[in-house]
Amino acid sequence: MKRILITGALGQIGSELTTYLRKIYGESNVVASSKNREAGSKIVEEGPFAIVDVLDPGQIAEAVEKHEIDTIIHLAAILSAVGEANPTLAWKVNVEGLFHVLEVAREKGCAVFTPSSIAAFGPSTPKDQTPQDTLQRPTTMYGVTKVSGELLCDYYFKKFGVDTRGVRFPGLISYETLPGGGTTDYAVHIYYDAIQKGKFTCYLKEGTAMDMMYMPDALDAIVQLMEADPSRLIHRNAFNVTAMSFTPEKIYGEIQKHIPEFIMDYDVDPIRQSIADSWPNSLDDSAAREEWGWNPKYDLSSMTIDMLDKLRKKLG
Ligand code: NAD
Repeated sequence: MKRILITGALGQIGSELTTYLRKIYGESNVVASSKNREAGSKIVEEGPFAIVDVLDPGQIAEAVEKHEIDTIIHLAAILSAVGEANPTLAWKVNVEGLFHVLEVAREKGCAVFTPSSIAAFGPSTPKDQTPQDTLQRPTTMYGVTKVSGELLCDYYFKKFGVDTRGVRFPGLISYETLPGGGTTDYAVHIYYDAIQKGKFTCYLKEGTAMDMMYMPDALDAIVQLMEADPSRLIHRNAFNVTAMSFTPEKIYGEIQKHIPEFIMDYDVDPIRQSIADSWPNSLDDSAAREEWGWNPKYDLSSMTIDMLDKLRKKLG
């Protein structure tokens, strides 16, 4: 039986992962944490919760001891667009925060799951069907922190035997909690605006292809990799995973099949456009498929049907 601590649990992934893991492992075995307590949050109220600022190693260690944690799912981070606006904070939270988590895991014998990102690649990386093992020279601070994190996790496994695992997530699309300031956020906001306004202004230009995934597949990926037989894992950290790759005009066209009057125009944000241009168009995720059976369920068409249905119910 696992006893799990989730850092950054009130964010886009954590707010759904906490509930999902509580269903699998039992409510009392999944401790959500964040640097503040958000009153009214379902996650804070429905099960154990701890205040953990990942910049404070004492708070991480205290939560691990108090709740007898054996697995840390480390989600606390600063995302790409926010990280470009505040690179110092991105370095501190993403690298120093992870370092503190790994140190506590080494001392207390915990396993660690940490997501990396497609941001760990850069303009010199092969853009199409980006291989698992390839050139990684990212040009954003977020990307620099993600490559550093991948290397730190590999190091802690090889040097200290800490059971570190992780995936490189593409842009994640979900309806529960809004994204936290990434470059792929448009692919969430477009669904809200399609329903609420019938019009969407895209900050990326036509033809900008990026990998994406629907949240239910992302949650499955985390559990599948955490539960994978370690003897089959050649890579451990930073597995490429993807479910679909699309451009703004492709997702627009898909939504229009269900809302024919929906219109989209463009007002390009040069910062997020240059970040997107430095990332792959599509990933090769065959290592994840071979080593732990990765096999996403949703494509653009089935995700769009589900997103519109869930959002219509949520937004009333
Ligand atoms: P998010 O921004 O929605 O949530 C991150 C949470 O971390 C926030 O609630 C924030 O308050 C918290 N946080 C920030 N600083 C903290 C600190 N010092 N101590 C404790 N908590 C702190 O992010 P997310 O989308 O849930 O992403 C989780 C992880 O997945 C991150 O590592 C991110 O890089 C990675 N990832 C996400 C995506 C995506 O599309 N959402 C894609 C690729 C990778």
